[in-house]
Formats: sequence, structure tokens, C-alpha cells
Amino acid sequence: QAKAEPVQRRQVFDPERMRRHAEQARLDQDLERALERGELEVHYQPQVELDSGRVTRLEALLRWHHPQRGAVSPAVFIPRAEATGAIIAIGDFVLQSACRQLRRWRDRGLGDLSVAVNLSTVQLYQADLVARVRRALEESGLPAPALELEITETGIMQDLEMAREVMQDLRALGVRLSVDDFGTGYSSLAYLTRLPVQILKLDRSFVADLEGSGEGRKVAEAVLGLAESLSLEVVAEGIETTAQADWLRQRACALGQGFLYARPLPPEACASLLTGAARGHPLGEAPVG
Ligand code: C2E
Ligand code: MG
Ligand code: MG
Ligand code: MG
Repeated sequence: QAKAEPVQRRQVFDPERMRRHAEQARLDQDLERALERGELEVHYQPQVELDSGRVTRLEALLRWHHPQRGAVSPAVFIPRAEATGAIIAIGDFVLQSACRQLRRWRDRGLGDLSVAVNLSTVQLYQADLVARVRRALEESGLPAPALELEITETGIMQDLEMAREVMQDLRALGVRLSVDDFGTGYSSLAYLTRLPVQILKLDRSFVADLEGSGEGRKVAEAVLGLAESLSLEVVAEGIETTAQADWLRQRACALGQGFLYARPLPPEACASLLTGAARGHPLGEAPVG
């Protein structure tokens, strides 16, 4: 008992630690209100066919413009939203925004586009996820096959059986499912064959390492081989150089996204890019945005 005391005291009176806590509490509070204050906006990053440069789909990526801090990275605020539960309302917002936006762009003749929405692990294991997805489709009128849900490999691995059930229900709606950040988790190859997924997203850490001496190339080759034998599509993330694009094309990787083609863009900028693409200008390897 007496031994534990100094440790406790150090925790309680550590000013740096208290400052960090207060800071985080403030950020959490701001995030709770970000939605109603209109500080959140969905941006869209094109995914292209690597051999033609045609844009076939878009990934919806959330942006938070904080009135004082400016842009806060989703890598920072998504984990906080997951911790506080705000991710449920925020996730709904992304889903609804993306479905409505895509429906409008398709109606305007900008192409037979689909949209990929990231699902948090918290959403994946939430009881009424399937109903929420169905509602977003119904309200927007977006055909289910035009919606793709990205679920991270580590999220799936948290509870494989439960994930499989939810994914089967989502699949029954007609949406497509992809495994995000593929290659970074501890996936056994066997689990993939048991999941109703259509797409693997090769994590950008491997793409970044294609020209290097690390494992990137080997992992990329293995993922492409696996996808081929399981008849899955691969989307390579984070393509930044023509050398990476060439390497992937040569190995029959059909789809990619990355700063080489376009950054995530606000809706208006994305619309003008799509308008050009619809007029027959594929995305070249000169970055947009
Ligand atoms: P992610 O789903 O793997 O998204 C891809 C990330 O890679 C995005 O970062 C994108 O901007 C970035 N990226 C794309 N091309 C390149 C490239 O060529 N080079 C580099 N260096 N990066 C590239 P972003 O937008 O900062 O998002 C980070 C992560 O935050 C996402 O990773 C995703 O896990 C999460 N996230 C973003 N939006 C949402 C959302 O609406 N819901 C949920 N649950 N998570 C989201
Ligand atoms: Mg993603
Ligand atoms: Mg990813
Ligand atoms: Mg990633």
C-alpha cells in the first residue's frame, strides 16, 4: 500500500500529463460539436484504372476544419471520435454525404462512378450498421453496387466471426466490400477465403517501398498473387511516382490511387476533374490538387 503512494502522487500532480488530458478533453468536446457547426466536409480522392487513367471510383475521406487549429488530420480525430462514440454520428454523416454526392454526380453524367466509404471498427460492430447503410442508400437513391465499404484488416481481425456475419449482411444489401490497409495486420490467408470481400487495398507503406530494399515489393507481389487466385480486385494505395505506377501495371494491378493522380479533393474541385474525365480526358500522371 505504502509503496504505491509515490506512483499515484506522481500521476496526480504531473502537470504535463494534466495539460495533455485537458487538451484532449477540449478536442473531444470540439469534435462533438464539429458536425452541427458544419466543420466537417467529405473530400474525394479518385481511384484510376492504371492502364487507361480512367476514374472509376472515389474514396470518401473526411476533413475537419477546426476554427482555431485549422485542418486536423483524420489520423488524429478519427481515433478520438471512436473513443468518445462520436464516430457513430460522424460515420452516418460521411455515409449519407457520400451517397448523396455520388448520386448527384452520376445524374449529371459524370460517369458510372462508385464511392468507397471508410467504416470504423466501432461502426462495424455496432448492432444497427446494416440498417444505417440501407437507409443511406434509400435516402440517396444510390444503387447499392455503387457503394463500397472499406473495412480495415485489423478491424476484421478483432472478432472474425462477428465481422463475417456483419459483412455477409452488408453484402446481401448489394454493396461491395474491401479490406483496407491490407498486409499490415496479422492476416492468415485462410480468413480471406471465408469473407465476402471483393477488393483488397494494398497498403501504401508497401507501395512506398516498391523501389526500396525493404519488404514492400515482396508483400506487393504476394498480395497481387493472392488476389489473382481468389479473383479479387486490388487497389494500390498511395502511388506517388511513375516508377511505382509502372511496376504495378507490369504486374497486372488494375487500380490505384495516390498523389500522382490526384489528392483528396473538395466536392467542387472533384466535380470539375470528373467533368474533364467525362469529356474524355483521363487522369494523366500529373498530379491534381
Ligand atoms: P485510409 O482509408 O487508408 O486512406 C488513405 C489515406 O492515404 C488518406 O489519408 C489519403 O489522403 C492518403 N493518401 C492517398 N494517396 C496518397 C499518396 O499518394 N501519398 C500519401 N502519403 N498519402 C496518400 P487521410 O485522408 O489523412 O486519412 C487517413 C486515415 O483516416 C484513412 O486511411 C482512414 O483510416 C481514416 N479516415 C479518413 N476518413 C475517414 C472516415 O470518413 N471514416 C473513417 N472511419 N475513417 C476515416
Ligand atoms: Mg480507406
Ligand atoms: Mg487505406
Ligand atoms: Mg492505408
